[in-house]
Amino acid sequence: MIRLAKRLAGLEESVTLLITAKAAELRAQGRDIIGFGAGEPDFDTPANIKEAAIKAINAGKTKYTPVGGIPELKDAIRAKFKRDNGLDYRRDEVLVSCGGKHSIFNLFQAALDAGDEIIIPAPYWVSYPVMAALAGAKPVIVQTTEAHGFKMTPKAFEAAITPATKAVVINSPSNPTGAAYTEAELAAIAEAAVRKGVLVITDEIYEQLAYGGFKVVSIASTNKALKDNCVVVNGVSKAYAMTGWRIGYAAGPAEIIKAMASIQSQSTSNPASISQWAAVEALNGTQEFIPAMVREFEARRNAMADGLNAIPGITAFKPQGAFYVFANVSGLYGKEIKTSAGLATRLLDDAGVAVVPGEPFGNDDYIRLSYATSMKNITEGVKRIGEAAGRMRG
Ligand SMILES: *Cc1c(COP(=O)(O)O)cnc(C)c1O
Repeated sequence: MIRLAKRLAGLEESVTLLITAKAAELRAQGRDIIGFGAGEPDFDTPANIKEAAIKAINAGKTKYTPVGGIPELKDAIRAKFKRDNGLDYRRDEVLVSCGGKHSIFNLFQAALDAGDEIIIPAPYWVSYPVMAALAGAKPVIVQTTEAHGFKMTPKAFEAAITPATKAVVINSPSNPTGAAYTEAELAAIAEAAVRKGVLVITDEIYEQLAYGGFKVVSIASTNKALKDNCVVVNGVSKAYAMTGWRIGYAAGPAEIIKAMASIQSQSTSNPASISQWAAVEALNGTQEFIPAMVREFEARRNAMADGLNAIPGITAFKPQGAFYVFANVSGLYGKEIKTSAGLATRLLDDAGVAVVPGEPFGNDDYIRLSYATSMKNITEGVKRIGEAAGRMRG
């Protein structure tokens, strides 16, 4: 038997993918399963973006590109930062990667040393602590509460800082909670980060998906002094329904961007040339797709959160953004069901509804339900959850 590398110890397979696989298996057996596990928009990539890709293929743009992205895409990203965030970056301060996830991986590899601590507010995206551990660093988890909107307070942030602290991760709007920080909240965290010399890593992949008029702000734009110690990660996956194209990007100080590009040059090289041309069109072309998608997501958010809140034993946090509802199901825990994984398994078996347990996101009292699915599925799925919850309560 092959002995695996020691750094893989404790590396778990993504639970999101496990539930998706189990749901697929049940579907193959002919069962009618409603999936609330999706981590991607259910919309098709807009036609103008697909056309740009087809044009790129026919024009022979099918070869290696510069490792960190074609200049045209870097410029489209720079224009996006200027337009949406009021941020100025030079080309050498921008890196294009194979998805935002890949940018974050490169960044953790470039910035974190063995023994470094990285502060991660919980609930968190499952990949942050795993990627930190793969870089040899120590994830320091700061619990947030639903009462505080699942947001880390500046006080909790400062209390978690030690001489070993290297970085902090901010993800607003958040996966899995949908919580989004206000400008004032970000400014307070930024001020503390600047004062303590902590690198701010801000994952803004859900920037365009906010509801009820909530204004998403980049923490990088709240404090001039922060810019030298902050890396913004974003991408086209969520905003333009382009998850399969694998284009994400990072912007920050040239030194760290250069290091990230070096890592990329020795691993994946450039992101797919065709996808890069498609991303140029996504960022430079018409943006009319986004408000239409956001309107639809907002209606679904309301239906799902309100529907879940009407079920005794469940309370759902009403998210400001992204496309997930993080629902507290501990009211259904008892002799038989004691964990979020147990509850997710029960809902799949008993109600034919696939949800994701909250435990791998850092809170075992919750489950995550994605509303990146049809209103019909939401209505039917929530109804089934209500019936199953009734049976659990006995
Ligand atoms: C989806 C997601 C990403 C990145 O997705 P890519 O497809 O790799 O660009 C990053 N962070 C969070 C929190 C996400 O949910």
